[in-house]
Amino acid sequence: MGAGIGGSALALSLAKLGVDYVLLEQAPAFAEVGAGIQLSPNGVRVLETLGLGDALAGFCTEPDFHKYSVWDTGETILRTPLMPRVRQAYGHAYYHAHRADLIAALTGGLDESRLQLNTKVAAVGQDGARAWADCEPGERITGDVLVGADGIHSLVREQVFSPDPPRASGYVTWRGVVERQKIADLGVPVSAHVDMGPRLSFVYYWVSGGTRLNWLALGQADGQKRESWSQTASSSEVIAAFDGWYDRPRRVIEATDETFVTALHDRNPLREWVAGRIGLLGDAAHAMLPYHAQGAVQSLEDAWVLARILAGSGGDVAADLARYQALRMDRAHLIVQQSRNAEGWYHLADPEAIARRNERFRRTNEKLDGGFSPQQHWLYSYDADAAALGTDDDWRALRPWS
Ligand SMILES: Cc1cc2nc3c(=O)[nH]c(=O)nc-3n(C[C@H](O)[C@H](O)[C@H](O)COP(=O)(O)OP(=O)(O)OC[C@H]3O[C@@H](n4cnc5c(N)ncnc54)[C@H](O)[C@@H]3O)c2cc1C
Repeated sequence: MGAGIGGSALALSLAKLGVDYVLLEQAPAFAEVGAGIQLSPNGVRVLETLGLGDALAGFCTEPDFHKYSVWDTGETILRTPLMPRVRQAYGHAYYHAHRADLIAALTGGLDESRLQLNTKVAAVGQDGARAWADCEPGERITGDVLVGADGIHSLVREQVFSPDPPRASGYVTWRGVVERQKIADLGVPVSAHVDMGPRLSFVYYWVSGGTRLNWLALGQADGQKRESWSQTASSSEVIAAFDGWYDRPRRVIEATDETFVTALHDRNPLREWVAGRIGLLGDAAHAMLPYHAQGAVQSLEDAWVLARILAGSGGDVAADLARYQALRMDRAHLIVQQSRNAEGWYHLADPEAIARRNERFRRTNEKLDGGFSPQQHWLYSYDADAAALGTDDDWRALRPWS
């Protein structure tokens, strides 16, 4: 249940592997969400397996490097390779996409007869033989397994696993999308950019085949902000936060027609994601802060692993779900934790701490010498198919963050 990136990918994966499903989505239609998304090769691998390779190549951009730069001069102090090196090393691209394009590609491949829009699930349950979803205004859908891919505010998580609310990080992201012609004179390269300053960071990259620049400004805001994708903000509030920065961030924000603000939340790790015939997937299982750009990518990994296991089921679906959890939970929870840890260095305020961070980045840049970081390798090398078949556990032996 839930036709976001995770639920749609699960439905497509099940269809590809010949497993019947019904996808329940509360929204009456797939609406455009005006934001970009980074797709690392561990997720692109799943999308290409689902037959979306040509579609992705059509609307994505291929960034050349991850670049971390200094707020007042724009000097790049750490640069790690992306395209084409990522494809050479891991067999799949690193892409930047507009979410609307990605959702359209995923849902465009769904069998309409298995998709129920405008169907809000109000309660879920199970007995020894079936799992069910009770939908408003009174329809019960039953099946062998029920998967809650219903996002950070998951009803399934709340009813079956834990009533704890999402955890507010105390930070927000302002964000926007700018047409290329409005900022063409800035000559922004096709890279994954992070400009790090005191208290806030500015993340930006090209989407929609390079016709629009997507940006996020991560920092602290005055007043209460909601965990919502549609709350607007005044761009002057954001521009003021960039006082003293080099030109590019301010120019990009000034050129933006509509600015949004989202309060950043994640979830404390659960002890269990599965109970009998009911399981969680994506943000419902492991909502994380966006600093490693892995939330949606992890939902893609979940989707393929779970579909593979269900496709090979011997009939004991509770055992199948337990296997899914055993294969997926430690990886996703480590990223939840590391995304929290990364928060600190995105928002440093003390000038000495900033100088120390920048020195560390410069040293890392020298040490990597144009190669991938151990963290990148750990993330990118994951092969969801091999993991589901139990033939690739190499990534578990790696300890990139220790
Ligand atoms: C600022 C920001 C930047 C990010 N950048 C990246 C990035 O670059 N790369 C990346 O991989 N991830 C990124 N993420 C994370 C990513 O957006 C999420 O992890 C991902 O969208 C979660 O997908 P999902 O399918 O699990 O949940 P959702 O997208 O939330 O989908 C849940 C679906 O369930 C439906 N639903 C909910 N309740 C019900 C119900 N009761 N009945 C029926 N349907 C229901 C909803 O309508 C929705 O369609 C970012 C997140 C943020 C906040």
